Amino acid sequence: MTDRPVLDVLEDIITTVVEPRAAEVDSTGSFPRAALTAFGEQGLLGLLSSPDVGGLGGSLADAAQVVRRLSASCGSTAMVLTMHYCATAVIEAHGPDDIRQAIAAGRHLSTLAFSETGSRSHFWAPLSTAAAEGDHVILDATKSWVTSAGEADSYVWTSQPALADAGATLWLVPASTDGLTVAGPFDGLGLRGNASSPVDARGVRLPLSARLGDDGAGLDLALGVVLPVFQILNASCSLGLMDAGIAKAVAHATAARFEHLDQTLADQPVARQHLAAMRNRADAAATLVDDAVVALATGRPDAPLRMLQSKAVAGDTALAVLDEAMRVGGGAAFRKDVGIERHFRDARASAVMAPTVDALQDFIGRAVCGLPLFG
Ligand SMILES: Cc1cc2nc3c(=O)[nH]c(=O)nc-3n(C[C@H](O)[C@H](O)[C@H](O)COP(=O)(O)OP(=O)(O)OC[C@H]3O[C@@H](n4cnc5c(N)ncnc54)[C@H](O)[C@@H]3O)c2cc1C
Repeated sequence: MTDRPVLDVLEDIITTVVEPRAAEVDSTGSFPRAALTAFGEQGLLGLLSSPDVGGLGGSLADAAQVVRRLSASCGSTAMVLTMHYCATAVIEAHGPDDIRQAIAAGRHLSTLAFSETGSRSHFWAPLSTAAAEGDHVILDATKSWVTSAGEADSYVWTSQPALADAGATLWLVPASTDGLTVAGPFDGLGLRGNASSPVDARGVRLPLSARLGDDGAGLDLALGVVLPVFQILNASCSLGLMDAGIAKAVAHATAARFEHLDQTLADQPVARQHLAAMRNRADAAATLVDDAVVALATGRPDAPLRMLQSKAVAGDTALAVLDEAMRVGGGAAFRKDVGIERHFRDARASAVMAPTVDALQDFIGRAVCGLPLFG
C-alpha cells in the first residue's frame, strides 16, 4: 500500500502491468490476474472499503475515475474491478469483518452472481432457491453470467428468500464451496478477459451467517446499494472506452496521409465532422454521469433518475461513438493495428448487461410518467 494519490498509483500499474498485457488478454481471453494482484498490493481493491477495516475509504466518484481511466487501457480489467466494487459495496454494508478486512488488504476479489438462466437479465426476479436447514441454507441455482467466474474468491449471490414470503435474498458464497461448478472458459465478442462464465450451484451448503442483510431484503439491497455503484461504474467503463476510441481515431486521422493531395485524413472536413460529433457525444454523456455522481452523493431528489440514465446514456453513446470511430478509421481500423476495433467490441457489452439499456429505457420512461418501476 502507498500514500500516493490513487490515480498516480493506477497510472503506474496501467503502464507497467495492464497495457503490456492488454492485447494478450483480448486475444486469448485470459483473466487479467497480474493487474488484479497489483491492484491488491497497492490498495486499489480496497478503494471502497472503510478505513475501519484498513481500506482507502474512497467515494463512488473516486471509483468512477479509476474505472474510466482503466477502461481506456483494458475494458476487461475495468469490468472485473467494476464487479468487485459492486460486491464490495454490499459486503461493506452487511458482510463479515474478516472478508471486509481481506478486501481492504487486497487479498480478496469478489463479484456479482445475479443473472440466471431462467430469469435472464431480470435479476430482480431470481428463480434460484435457498432452503433453510437448521442453522444452514442449501443453495441451488443456474447462474448464467458471472464476471470473474472461477477467479473471484467469493460471489455476492441472489436467491429467492429462504423463509420470507416474498422478495429476494443475498448471500456471500465463498468460491471454494462444494457444489459450485464453473462452465468452460468465456469466449465472447468483447470484454474477452473477464472470465464471464455460467456458474451452477447444486446443494451448496452454507451457514445462515453467509446471508447479506435480511431474508427477503435482497431486492432492496440490490437496487439500493448495488445498483447505484453498478450504474455509475458501468457507465464509467463506457466513458473510458470512448476516451480511448476517440484518442485513437484522432491519432489515426492526423497521421494517415493522402500523399497525392499532400493532406492527412483530418484535413478532410467530413472526418473532422465525425470527430467533433464523437467528442460532443462523449462529453455530453460524461457530463451526465458526473452529474449523477453528484446527485447520488448529495441525495438530490433527481438522483434515482440520473442514476438510471447514467448507464443508459453512456452505454448507448459508446455504441454510437465507437461505431463512428470505426468509420473514421476506415479499412485501417478494420484491422487490429489501429486499436479501435477492440474498444468497439468491448462497448457492446454494456448494452446487454443487466439492467440492459432497453430495460433502463423502460424504467426511465416509467419514472418520467410517474409509474412504478416494476409494473
Ligand atoms: C461481459 C458480460 C459480463 C457479465 N457479468 C455479469 C456478472 O458479473 N453478474 C451477473 O449477474 N450478470 C452478468 N452479466 C449478465 C448480464 O447482466 C445480463 O444478464 C445478460 O447479458 C443478459 O443476457 P440474456 O441473453 O439473458 O438477455 P435477455 O434477458 O434474454 O434479453 C434479450 C434482449 O431483450 C431485452 N429485454 C429484456 N427484458 C427487457 C425489458 N424488460 N424491457 C426491454 N427490453 C428487455 C434486452 O435488452 C435484450 O436486448 C454479464 C454479461 C456480459 C455480456
